[in-house]
Amino acid sequence: MAFAITQTCCTDATCVSVCPVNCIHPTPDEPDFGRTDLLYIDPDTCIDCGACADACPVDAIFPAGELTGPLRAYEEINAEYYAGRDVLAQATVAPNFHRWSPPSFGRVLPSDFAPLDVAVVGTGPAGMYAVEDLLLHTNARVTLVDRLPVAGGLIRFGVAPDHPSTKKIGETFARFHDHPRLRLRLGVSAGPGLAARHDAVIYAVGATQPRRLGVPGEDLPGSLPAATVVGWYNGHPDVGPDAVDLSADRVVVVGTGNVALDIARILTAEPAALAGTSIAPEALTRLRSGKVREVVLLARRGPETAAYTRPELLALAARGDLVLDAHDPRIAAAIDSAAAGEKAAWLRGVLREKVDWSAPPPDGRRRVVLRFHSTPLAFTGDAEVRGVRASGPDGEVEIVAGRVVRAAGFRGAPVPGLPFDEETGTVPNAAGRVPGLPGVYVAGWIKRGPSGGIGANKACARETVGTLLEDAVAGRLPVRRRGAAARLFGRG
Ligand code: SF4
Repeated sequence: MAFAITQTCCTDATCVSVCPVNCIHPTPDEPDFGRTDLLYIDPDTCIDCGACADACPVDAIFPAGELTGPLRAYEEINAEYYAGRDVLAQATVAPNFHRWSPPSFGRVLPSDFAPLDVAVVGTGPAGMYAVEDLLLHTNARVTLVDRLPVAGGLIRFGVAPDHPSTKKIGETFARFHDHPRLRLRLGVSAGPGLAARHDAVIYAVGATQPRRLGVPGEDLPGSLPAATVVGWYNGHPDVGPDAVDLSADRVVVVGTGNVALDIARILTAEPAALAGTSIAPEALTRLRSGKVREVVLLARRGPETAAYTRPELLALAARGDLVLDAHDPRIAAAIDSAAAGEKAAWLRGVLREKVDWSAPPPDGRRRVVLRFHSTPLAFTGDAEVRGVRASGPDGEVEIVAGRVVRAAGFRGAPVPGLPFDEETGTVPNAAGRVPGLPGVYVAGWIKRGPSGGIGANKACARETVGTLLEDAVAGRLPVRRRGAAARLFGRG
C-alpha cells in the first residue's frame, strides 16, 4: 500500500529529502518542479515507510488506501503522474526517477565567519523561509520585522480559513519566532534605519496590489479587489468587518485563479461548515445573514488554460454545487475531447447549464457558475455596481450582479528607497541582490513576481540567502555601525 500526496501540498519538497527510495517527484532539480501543482508519490516504488507523512508540514500525505471523500481521487492523480514513464530508462522523457543525483555542497562558509546581523522584512512564507535558512544554516542574528501587529503574512491573511492544513505551515514558521537569535518586531515599518543597524536587509514584502482590469466602472462602489474580500474573511487588520456587503444574490468574480476559487467557495459555503475554522467571527456572522446564492467566475480563457490548480478545482467541485455555463459549444468539445490528465478533462462530470444572466439566480441551494471565454467590458451601474457587461459566445451579455470582485492577480508595490520595475511590479534584482544597493536583498513575490505557491518561496529565499552569504564572504557588504543590531538583542 503506497502513500499519496493530496490537496494541501505546498510543494516545498520537505518530503523529497526524507524518502529513502527517492519516489517523490518532481524534485527541486527536475524540470517540472516550479510548474507543478503538487508533488507525486510513485505507488510502484513507495515502500510505505511513512517518513514523508511525518515530515510534511501541511499534513498532505496519507496512505492511499485510507483516503476518503474527495481525497480518494489523489490515489489515481499520484499514479497518473508516473503512467507511461519508464522509471528505469526515461532519460529522454523525464528525469531519471529513483536515481540519486550526486551530492552537492553549495555553500561553504569560512570557519571564522563572524555572525551577521540581518533584518528580514515580512513574516510571510518568503520571509520565514529566509529566516529558517539563516538560523539553521548560519550563525546570523536576525531581526524579523512586520508592519502588521501580528505575524504570518500570506499564511495568516491569504490562505482561506477552510484550508486549515495549509495554514498549519504557519506553525512550522512560528517556531522560529522565539529562537534565541531572532528578535521579532511587529507593528513596525521598515525605515532607512534598518539598513544602518544591520549588515544586510532582506525585503520579503510580497505583492499586495490588485492588477487593474482597465474597464469602465471598475472603481464603482461595490467593485472590490480580491485582497479586500480575502482580508475580510481572514480578519486582516487593514480590512473592516463591514468591508464586504453580502446583500446581493449574485456576485461576479473576475478571474479563475486559486484566489478567485477561494472567494467563490467561501461566499457560497454553508456558514455552519465554516464555524470552528479560523474565519473572522464578524465575517461568519455576516455570511449567516448574507443573501448571496450564486457566484459567477468569469474567465477570459477556456478550460484548457484556466488559471486554477487541480487541487483547488477538486475542492470546489467536491461540494457538488459547481455549474458550467454551457452557451459555448467549444467548451463542451474541449472538455469531452481532452486526454486524461489535461486541464480541460478536470471538468468532466460538472453539471452544464445555459444560465439566464438577466434573471436572478435560482432559489434553493447556493452555487458557483464557471463562465469561460468571457471578457468583462464594463461594470455597469450609476451610484454602485449593478452588473457586468461581458463578451462571450452568446454575444454581449449583461450579467446582473450586486457585487463584483476583481481577482485578476496581484502586483508588487514600490518599496521606499528601492528601485522598482513598474512593468513587472517587482524590485529589479540579480538572484535576490538589489543592484546598486550593497547589503539589500529581496525574496518572494516582490523579487520574482506573484507566481508559485507557498513552497516556491523556499527555493527563492534560499537563493537570496545564498547570494547574501556570497557577498558577505567576498567582503561586498557595506561597513555598518557594527554592534548596533547586537545591542537590539541586549548583547551590545
Ligand atoms: Fe517515500 Fe516512505 Fe513516503 Fe513512500 S512512504 S513516498 S517510501 S517516504
